Amino acid sequence: MSLLVVGSVAFDAVETPFGKVDRMLGGAASYFALAASHFATVRVVAIVGEDFSNKERAIFKGRKIDLSGVEQVAGKSFFWAGRYSQNMNERTTLATELNVFADFRPRLPASYGDSPYIFLGNIDPTLQRSVLTQVRRKPAMVGLDTMNYWIERTPAELRETLKQTQILMINDDETRQLTGEHNLLRAAKRVFAMGPQTLIIKRGEHGAMLVHDKFMFSIPAFPLEEVRDPTGAGDSFAGGFMGYLASIRRINEQTLRTAMVYGSVLGSFAVERFGVERLCGLRRREITARAKLFSKLTSFKL
Ligand code: AMP
Repeated sequence: MSLLVVGSVAFDAVETPFGKVDRMLGGAASYFALAASHFATVRVVAIVGEDFSNKERAIFKGRKIDLSGVEQVAGKSFFWAGRYSQNMNERTTLATELNVFADFRPRLPASYGDSPYIFLGNIDPTLQRSVLTQVRRKPAMVGLDTMNYWIERTPAELRETLKQTQILMINDDETRQLTGEHNLLRAAKRVFAMGPQTLIIKRGEHGAMLVHDKFMFSIPAFPLEEVRDPTGAGDSFAGGFMGYLASIRRINEQTLRTAMVYGSVLGSFAVERFGVERLCGLRRREITARAKLFSKLTSFKL
């Protein structure tokens, strides 16, 4: 099953206590697509500049990701730089250069028009919605990510896009900001009134929680001895989650729980190395083995 993602394809500079990389492939849509590609056929809608070369294309090609919706224009690609604190819990953004991303108007090639699974990465909610107007039939499922910037500056547009969204994936601060409610369960009810039936609250090293109006599910982050670069963990989580659902084609309590596990598995692999490196070389058997470890980690008898 095809899974379409719209979002940033970028170059990142990242500094963590484990090292420093001045320029590497990044962007939320890149992490999402590479993680999801282990489960589904992924189509990307994004914009890049002239600096996006065959080297970057090869990374996506290596995972059979469809880039026909990635527009290449004159200018530089989106560039983001960040530095992590000694304990990795805090991140300082050192630079955000929108470059060609500033004029991004998502355009879907005709071949993307039948995409049943769609993930609207963190971009202007009006642009997110424009993707939905370009697909020929109603998607089976739409997932959405957003951030404080859009919650504060374009609340009405975001509300409009949420009406067409089934799964909202944001962090706890964003959940509180969007709903004006501190308690996350009460906040979830407010989210349900906005459109989505499912809220996934990403909590970084504390894992993730899924709240549906009929059930809940919570999963820890996989305990790792060494986290080298946390960039893209949330996007990789979303990719693993949506990729699994697109592969299984059924959405119910059981498949949503399993999707949470695969989301956490992909998020945990992403942070083991700098950038997207670990997601590219990952084997199916490594994914399965870690999912089984998750099951052991969290199972208990009463
Ligand atoms: P995360 O660690 O999940 O927040 O994702 C980090 C990725 O998002 C990096 O690879 C950046 O290139 C990309 N990014 C950073 N800021 C933005 C933004 N304002 N809009 C879209 N993508 C961004």
